[in-house]
Formats: sequence, structure tokens, C-alpha cells
Amino acid sequence: MADGCACDRHAHMFLTVSQALTKGLSVANPITETETLPLIDAIGRVLAEDCTSKVDMPAFDNSAMDGYAVRTADLGDGPLFELPVAGRIAAGDSGAHDAPAGSALRIFTGAPVPPDFDTILMQEDCDATAQGIRFSRRPKPGQHIRRVGEDLKAGAPILRRGCEITAREAAALASSGYGEVTVYRKLKVTIFSTGSELQQPGEALGPGQIYNSNRYMLRALLDKPWIALTDKGPVEDNPAKLEQVLREACDSSDLIITTGGVSVGDEDHMPRLFEAIGGKPDVMKVAMKPGKPIMFGRRGDALYVGLPGNPVSAYVTWQIVGSHMMARRAGLHHASQTPEQAVLSEPLSRRAGRQEYRPVVIEGAEPDGTPRLRLMAASYSGRVALLAQSDGLAVIPAETEALPQGHSLSFLRF
Ligand code: AMP
Ligand code: MG
Repeated sequence: MADGCACDRHAHMFLTVSQALTKGLSVANPITETETLPLIDAIGRVLAEDCTSKVDMPAFDNSAMDGYAVRTADLGDGPLFELPVAGRIAAGDSGAHDAPAGSALRIFTGAPVPPDFDTILMQEDCDATAQGIRFSRRPKPGQHIRRVGEDLKAGAPILRRGCEITAREAAALASSGYGEVTVYRKLKVTIFSTGSELQQPGEALGPGQIYNSNRYMLRALLDKPWIALTDKGPVEDNPAKLEQVLREACDSSDLIITTGGVSVGDEDHMPRLFEAIGGKPDVMKVAMKPGKPIMFGRRGDALYVGLPGNPVSAYVTWQIVGSHMMARRAGLHHASQTPEQAVLSEPLSRRAGRQEYRPVVIEGAEPDGTPRLRLMAASYSGRVALLAQSDGLAVIPAETEALPQGHSLSFLRF
């Protein structure tokens, strides 16, 4: 088989998790079309331009305190200083004044400091008198003045393209003067769940039926401002129907995500159907638990990710591989979650061979703050409700067979 790919669904070829991720990312073609939106409408979208500040920050010298602006040249030898107060400048005022030499100005936080004033006295450090103010400690020149451009100069880089415009990015763009920004257009994503056994939650289960959990899981995972989602619901294991829905999805979407039907059973139609409509399928058997196999492929610009039907496997393969492919397709910087270090609250023993993502509960912490993990039962892959009761996934390396209590382990917090 060309380059040893697992196109042959029967090939007993397992990829490591990192090989699978590399492979998946290599077919994820980043979106290039952009649109320019008012900043308020760009919140939650993916930034498509490198941004530099349009203004100096701060834009003018301003007071960092509530107090009094003073000219140090006006001060005598002390030990006591007394000045009349000749005016008042608040935030939003222009900073113009007609304070004669030898007088102070009442000033508030954020108010412009007039150029001829060179220091700010905190109000706590002086007494207000009938004539003005009195204080005994000589202020240092420049104290409590935030200088123009001291945080950021106009033209300084603030954000790189490929970030999600969340609260911090939105505030950075607003403060540096962006009324509108260029973002990638929304990613058109279509999902459907394959399986004749699927019943909608809320309906009675007939013989052989189960509730469709993957649809709801994917809806939650894909509920993002940068996604335009089409949900085709469940589709039964009928090749003609599956092919029609898959074809429509590929014709109209940037990314298609399905669950089920990618294994080697007679009812696992998706790789063959994807090929039949002109796609190039690749079914990766990944040495991970839970999870194998995962399918992906391209048909023109459309990227297809076929997740396993088992809901725990679908969730984990999505987190470890699929979500990164989608992020890249959407124009996001690829940033994988850095695992945290933790210790085991009990010994572990298992069969070596596959990198395992085991649901864990945080049961407290070591004196240095390292979380202590209790492992969920080894047979969790059919119990998706366990994911909702756990705090993250412990990452157990492929070769690990046993670990003593207290041993350190990395984990991915939910
Ligand atoms: P498959 O990959 O289609 O062979 O499915 C593997 C297992 O996951 C089977 O036991 C299916 O019944 C189950 N399954 C498939 N799709 C779903 C779904 N959408 N929700 C819950 N379980 C599913
Ligand atoms: Mg199935």
C-alpha cells in the first residue's frame, strides 16, 4: 500500500497518537476567505490579520492617582509645603488650565497631566486647608504619572492572526483602536450520526435501540461563533441514504463530521461511500484507548472526519485528533493542550500496548499542590456518563503496564 497508509481497512497497522495527529493535520487545509466586521460582531471569531496598536497606550500623560498635580520647581525648602489649589481636572477633561505659578491643581485618576506639571501628590499624603493644600514630604518628579506610550507604542504588535477573539483579545483590539477587524469567514460544518439503532432522547426505546448521545456531544463541542453548523441528525445504516447525505454534506461544507460506521463491520459503510463519491478516505487505526479507528479524508476542499460510534471513543478521538484538525481548517493557530502533572492515589495495572486516556477524578492535592488522581474503572469505554463525572483524562503511555501509588502521571483537565 502506498506510503504504508491504512487505506486498507483490514491492514493491521497502528499509528501512534502523535503520528495520527501529524497525519490528520497534514490534510486539514486552512480556510483562506476572510471578511471585515465591526469589532463587536467579530467577538468569538478567528482573527485573520496580524494586529498592531493604532495608538500609543496611554495616549497622553495621565494621573495614576486621585490627588494634586504640582510643579516641583514651585516648592521651597520645606519642611512644610503649602500651595493654593487653582483648578480641577478630571478624566475626560482636556488638561487646559490657567493655574498661575506656585499653585496646584486638583486631579483625578486618568485625567491628563498638563505638560508644565511634573508630579502628582496622592491625596492621602496631604491635608486640604481653607487656602489649598499642605504637605510635608517633597514629591519626586514624575511620580504617579503614567507616561504616553509607556504600555505600548503605536505600531507595536498586539495580536497574531489565528487567535480566537475572546474577552482578552477583544479588549486588546478595542483599547488599541480597532473599530473593525478582518476575520476568517465562518467554517461551514455538517454533522450526522450513523446508526439504525439510534433513538432520540425523550422518545421510548424500542427493541435494539439506544439513545443518540454523539449528536448532542458534537452539538456542544461545535457551539462556537466561528462555526456555521448544519445538523443532519441521525441517518440509518442504509448505504443509499448515507451516500446521499454524505454527498450533500461534502458539496456544501468545509468540514463534515460523522460518528459510527468507520470500523470493519458489514454495516460500517462510511469509508467505501466516501470513496464512491470521489473522496480519498484514510482509516487510521490508532494505538490509543479508547478510540481506534478514526477516518478522515478530502474531497475537493471538503474535509471529512469520521469518528468511532462508541461515544467515549468519539469524544476522546475528537479531543486528541479531530478537534485539532478542525482548528487548523478554521484558520486557528494549532495549540494542543499542555498536560498537567499529577500523582496517582492508587496503584495502576493494565495491559500495555496502547496510549490510554483514562477518565480520572481529582481527589485532593499533595502538599505542593500537585493534584491526586483516582482512576475510573478500566472498563469505561461504553459508559459515556463517566466522562461527565470525571475531571479529566489521565494520559497513560503505551508501554506502561503498572504504576505504584503516588507515581506521577500527566493528565488533561476538562
Ligand atoms: P459503530 O462505530 O457504528 O460500529 O458503533 C460502535 C458502537 O457505538 C455501537 O455499539 C453503537 O451502537 C454505538 N453508537 C454508534 N453511534 C452512536 C451514537 N450516536 N450515540 C450513542 N451510541 C452510538
Ligand atoms: Mg454503527
